[in-house]
Amino acid sequence: MSSQDSKSWSVAGKKVIVAGGGIAGLSFSLSLLQLCRQKNIDAPSILILERQKVPEERQGYSLSIRGDTGGKQVLEKIGVLDKLMEIQCPGRRMLICEARNGKMTEIGSFPSVFNGVQLGLRVSRNDLRDTLYKALDSKMLRWGTTVTNARIVETSAGSKVIVELNTGESEEADILVVADGGRSRVRQALCPQDQPQYCGVTLLCADVNINPLPDLLQKGAAWIMGSQNALFLASITSTSAVYGLSLRQDKPREDGSHDMKSLLDSQHDDANSLLQEVKDKGKDYGAPFPELLAATRPEDIKVLNCYDKMPTRSTGPVVFIGDAAHLMPPLSGNGANQAMVDAWNLAEQLTSSHKSLEEALHTYDDEMVKRMTKYITETRDFIEASHTTAFWPRLKRNTGIRIGHIILNYGHYIKWTLAIALLTGIGFTGYKLKGYYESTSQGKK
Ligand SMILES: Cc1cc2nc3c(=O)[nH]c(=O)nc-3n(C[C@H](O)[C@H](O)[C@H](O)COP(=O)(O)OP(=O)(O)OC[C@H]3O[C@@H](n4cnc5c(N)ncnc54)[C@H](O)[C@@H]3O)c2cc1C
Repeated sequence: MSSQDSKSWSVAGKKVIVAGGGIAGLSFSLSLLQLCRQKNIDAPSILILERQKVPEERQGYSLSIRGDTGGKQVLEKIGVLDKLMEIQCPGRRMLICEARNGKMTEIGSFPSVFNGVQLGLRVSRNDLRDTLYKALDSKMLRWGTTVTNARIVETSAGSKVIVELNTGESEEADILVVADGGRSRVRQALCPQDQPQYCGVTLLCADVNINPLPDLLQKGAAWIMGSQNALFLASITSTSAVYGLSLRQDKPREDGSHDMKSLLDSQHDDANSLLQEVKDKGKDYGAPFPELLAATRPEDIKVLNCYDKMPTRSTGPVVFIGDAAHLMPPLSGNGANQAMVDAWNLAEQLTSSHKSLEEALHTYDDEMVKRMTKYITETRDFIEASHTTAFWPRLKRNTGIRIGHIILNYGHYIKWTLAIALLTGIGFTGYKLKGYYESTSQGKK
């Protein structure tokens, strides 16, 4: 039984195919099921096609889940936040520092809790993905299945999508949700003009096993701005960490990748020279970077060319979410968060009252394009600001960070101080007015 108006379009009875079982695809499926339950709508049939052969294939780095950009709220709405809070990475703060000649100066330190409210958390990508797919019925997922192409066909029952698979088979769907990442094959097939652009930054990154975790990483993640480049550090587990040395470049490196899977699979012929490059270019940074470098195996250094891409709108019954729709460099710490926000918002539109699927998808697109254009533009500004060495831009940047630091660390006290100052001011003004009133009324007598 559907609670929707019978004249409106409904997702009930439809077949939805999700290309890609990453963060976007899994959170979309959970969101849709959750909203169908809440709104008393019959759930559609959902099939998630995932290229990876087994769920256990590892992708090792950690992700910031943010309350300010909406990722944390989506996890709460789909009912997995409590579980993730239990297994979050060590260290709760975000430190922002400057480094010169091995000496680090802290500019700001941001707590994960403000005024009793959890602002965000850091989880390993593996844990997030495992938690999401374990919350779904395993029959919905088909592992080891690559979507190779998609075609829109017109039938007497309206537009349908034919999804072609690596097995030579094909599947027909009423809606195709494209969630196959930054190098989306479906986007390349249907919107070949929408190509990611190199955004002038390449990361040399590595996961390292390190036990015990250095002090700074036990406190939290760190973004450290050096004189030529910048460095990101974060814990993954209590015995492992990830770092990325961010280099400004005019062109991407040939041995780099912007696709998560090939990035994590990539091997470099000259691994030792890459490690040496990280050591040479990372001389600005003090502890714990030398310790992390000492624990790095040359073959673990990966080259990640950073790309971005403005949002792609839906075409017919094919709609894009997550990195397939829009791409931002990892430095934004927001790609996975926005993948989850897309997932929830799309599910919300598919379960809201609309005259047609087209109307539902356009409403989703309009919001997604506006939100992501803002975040992509902000990320470009952030990259510029965090790699600058010029005096005024640096001063502006550091002042902004210090103000943020004061508000988030002392905002509680500032609030009470202002309230007391306001009450004192009101009391004092009242006292003065009373005196004035009494003196003028005595004068009249
Ligand atoms: C080092 C690093 C650190 C990051 N840190 C953060 C952070 O702190 N916070 C944050 O919000 N974001 C962060 N990000 C970005 C974040 O990881 C991505 O934005 C997020 O993973 C996007 O999710 P997605 O599901 O859209 O794409 P993906 O995670 O790329 O998932 C796509 C899925 O589709 C599958 N697939 C691909 N092609 C096909 C196909 N043809 N057929 C079937 N399946 C296919 C893939 O195997 C994969 O499982 C980071 C990224 C990196 C690389």
